[in-house]
Amino acid sequence: MSMNPIVAEIQENGVVGAGGAGFPSHVKLASNASTIIVNAAECEPLIHKDKEILLHHTAEFLAGLNMVMRAASASEGLIGIKEKHTHIIDHLNQSVGPDVRVVPIGDFYPAGDEITLIYETTGKVVEAGKLPITQGIIVNNVETLLNVGRRKPVTTTFVTLGGDVENKVTLEVPIGLPIRTLIEYASPTISDYVVLLGGPMMGRLTSDLDEVVTKTSSAINILPADHVLVRRMRVMGKPDTVRKVGKSACDQCIFCTALCPRYLLGHPIQPHKSMRALMFTPTGESVPEMHAMACCECNLCTMVSCPEGLYPGSVSTLSKRFAGSSGMKFDAAEFQSTGPHPLIKYRRTPTSKLKRMLDLNRFGDSGPLIEHFFSPKVLSVPLRQHIGKAAEAIVSVGALVNAGEKIASVGRNLGSEIHSPMTGKVLNITDSTIELEIG
Ligand code: SF4
Ligand code: SF4
Repeated sequence: MSMNPIVAEIQENGVVGAGGAGFPSHVKLASNASTIIVNAAECEPLIHKDKEILLHHTAEFLAGLNMVMRAASASEGLIGIKEKHTHIIDHLNQSVGPDVRVVPIGDFYPAGDEITLIYETTGKVVEAGKLPITQGIIVNNVETLLNVGRRKPVTTTFVTLGGDVENKVTLEVPIGLPIRTLIEYASPTISDYVVLLGGPMMGRLTSDLDEVVTKTSSAINILPADHVLVRRMRVMGKPDTVRKVGKSACDQCIFCTALCPRYLLGHPIQPHKSMRALMFTPTGESVPEMHAMACCECNLCTMVSCPEGLYPGSVSTLSKRFAGSSGMKFDAAEFQSTGPHPLIKYRRTPTSKLKRMLDLNRFGDSGPLIEHFFSPKVLSVPLRQHIGKAAEAIVSVGALVNAGEKIASVGRNLGSEIHSPMTGKVLNITDSTIELEIG
């Protein structure tokens, strides 16, 4: 059967989920859906790119939503956005057609968790281990739909610069640009800093300033080296420590479970059980645990819920990975679906609490989109910016390439096509990167 021409175009242009791990967008559209939900929650503090796209690239974003709705034969589009952004909601309401509705949602974390967002906008619960399409729904992020609506290869990405910097802005930048260039542009106001890629809840620290932006980049934040978030994240990166601390200090109060967003939707995740399991092993090593396989890794339990300051999210993630590598498969039939918790709306964690506890208010809460053109001498374009197989170079060293020209392909494998962000010459090709001399 031939591919829908819209889906084929999305595949050819290398569009991937810009808000998460980079799942190839054309694959999501392999099934028809009744509803397309736009994830405009942008629920992590210090990231502003989706809000800026909604305000400043409205027509292209809505064109992308319309294309995806047609490709999936969906009869309605829902834009889930936090109710506090009244100016963006008013702006969108003046622009959307009759088959698209703007749905205001509460200001809590993680409102942008896909399964939580579906519940908030439709009242439907996707069962643990199942995909949104089982409820006739496909969820897409704002930047993903912008990339669809632009109808050209994806060669740029939007990045918010924040934290202790002079220039707290959002920029559209070429893929393959080193983060060093963006940090210099942001102009840190402190000397002893740490770089956080992404948001404070699900992002990661890096010390490699030669890392480059990809299709899934969202934010670069400069944090003081002794900031509470940095201290927490450093421990989260040490599996032995999080397990030993958990084994010795968890008092099984179950706050982590009681406030877990997936547990509140009736999913079987119960992080206190992963913590309890540490006590069953002599040295606190994790055991594979099926409950943990329902964890969405939002880190709420670690960053906010646990009154002891332990790391139940990290322990759940370790149990989940261990279960996966042990060949354990999540079996929803093992668990009786309980449906949403009767107290779900009282147990949500307000973003204001999260910002207070993680000392984020000091960094401000905006990142206006501005135009700035970088003139890099070299771009290093990664061959894997997506879920699936790494793309393979289809150009040779020394070749001249135009901006937007395809330079790597995944063929018929799961993955995404890669295009040259700017006009230049191929300098070097490795298993992971195509290096381009620009100009
Ligand atoms: S909230 Fe903390 S102390 Fe309480 S059960 Fe969970 S990990 Fe243990
Ligand atoms: S990280 Fe914690 S709060 Fe988030 S889904 Fe996993 S167990 Fe629940």
